[in-house]
Amino acid sequence: MSNSTTAPEPIIELRNVTRRFDDNGFIAVNDFNLTIERGEFVTFLGPSGCGKTTTLRMIAGFDRPTSGQILLGGKDISKLPPNKRPVNTVFQRYALFTHMNIYDNIAFGLKLKKMDRGEIDKKVKHVLEMVDLEGFEERSVATLSGGQQQRIAIARALVNEPEILLLDEPLGALDLKMRKEMQIELKAMHDQLGITFIYVTHDQEEALTMSDKIVVMNGGEIQQIGKPEDIYNEPKNAFVADFIGESNIFKGIMTGKMKVRFCGGEFECMDDVPEGTQIDAVVRPEDVIITEPSKGTVTGKVTGVVFKGIHYEITVESGKYEMVIQSTKTPKVGEEVGMCLEPDGIHIMIAEDHTTRFDADVNEDYSLEYNGRTIDADITKVVKGSTLKDGVLKDSSGETIRPENLRIHVSIEPTDIEMTDDTEKGLTSGEIINLIYKGDHYSYVVRTVRGHDLIVDDEYLWNLGDMVGLVMPAEKMNFTLAK
Ligand code: ADP
Ligand code: MG
Repeated sequence: MSNSTTAPEPIIELRNVTRRFDDNGFIAVNDFNLTIERGEFVTFLGPSGCGKTTTLRMIAGFDRPTSGQILLGGKDISKLPPNKRPVNTVFQRYALFTHMNIYDNIAFGLKLKKMDRGEIDKKVKHVLEMVDLEGFEERSVATLSGGQQQRIAIARALVNEPEILLLDEPLGALDLKMRKEMQIELKAMHDQLGITFIYVTHDQEEALTMSDKIVVMNGGEIQQIGKPEDIYNEPKNAFVADFIGESNIFKGIMTGKMKVRFCGGEFECMDDVPEGTQIDAVVRPEDVIITEPSKGTVTGKVTGVVFKGIHYEITVESGKYEMVIQSTKTPKVGEEVGMCLEPDGIHIMIAEDHTTRFDADVNEDYSLEYNGRTIDADITKVVKGSTLKDGVLKDSSGETIRPENLRIHVSIEPTDIEMTDDTEKGLTSGEIINLIYKGDHYSYVVRTVRGHDLIVDDEYLWNLGDMVGLVMPAEKMNFTLAK
């Protein structure tokens, strides 16, 4: 068991671990740096496709990093085969041998190792007790429920006495009730065994309830590493805030010392960020206080009330913004309400720079292109003071500028990029891989055909996986000349 009197001791370390797939050049895991302590319960949390399984497979030895190192107890194991690593894996699909009874399923690996019968008997009995299925030796796999089968899969991994147990969405195939029970059992098992658990899930609640440490991942990158409380209370960016628990996220600006404006109101906050800084404010639904309209910092109209068991989920429209609130109060749909926030109910994140930047190609006739598509810009406006006559561009002092000597940086803001379902339209196209609602608009991540991730703001709701064309109007572009 992890013990407060012993100093933490790293068992697994990932150093600059990157995995790029050769066939499509896709980077599934990008420069991971991570330390896992002996005895810890660590969870990799993130949406489907973010690189969780790939990372686990590299730790297990089924896959190798393209670059970087994996250390076990301080030693590089990058070249060690899976069966030489003190690691066992439990997968989402139990993968039991259906033609064997429970005993033979669990004993399979030990028999391969030619362990003597008496010892195998003892070990099988012991692990069956650990997963609370004592006496199940003779049963066939088919007579077990999904939850029982998964416990057998865990027993089969534990019988090898691994130092590290890897669990890849092990409860994903179970129904909600069984999943909740198994979460508690797994956590208890971890505390009893004292071995290291590396757990993979896309379910934030599961991660928050079970883990000592959570690694939040998105798009092959680590977003934040921390204790569940820290990740919930102090999310590092809008992705983490949105993914962990429900939250309202608003674009805003610092208006004074610990004063911030968002959602149409000015609020006191606890974060000392310089005046004028663009920020994202995170407000958890349970932190919004509903008052009479005259007492609210902002007011709005109730548009929805849904009973959720212990509280109501209330949606309020305030001007162009929308706020989701959890409260035991029950205002009526259509009612005007006031909303207040305590300073500690607001979490300020410095807005990341989401400007899209690329270089334009300059053609012989000085027209501009990107991706082989035309940018509708006048070169004489881009190169200040220049004139274009008879196909020759001259600067203000009459000097000729050749197209190949021009390097033009282009930048455009997320709000100025327009999405269309016609992928032939616009400068480039891509797939929507992430979206976050920011109170009055959605912020999308679009992975372009060239593999770049662009941020696009749009007030309309698109779906994950939609293929979109990205229209970038030349009049919204900022052009700068590289020297
Ligand atoms: P997760 O477990 O978080 O859902 P994975 O680690 O399985 O994600 O996959 C991460 C990304 O890498 C996905 O986009 C997936 O399509 C891609 N990927 C995984 N394995 C391969 C492979 N062998 N070849 C090419 N791409 C792969
Ligand atoms: Mg996976």
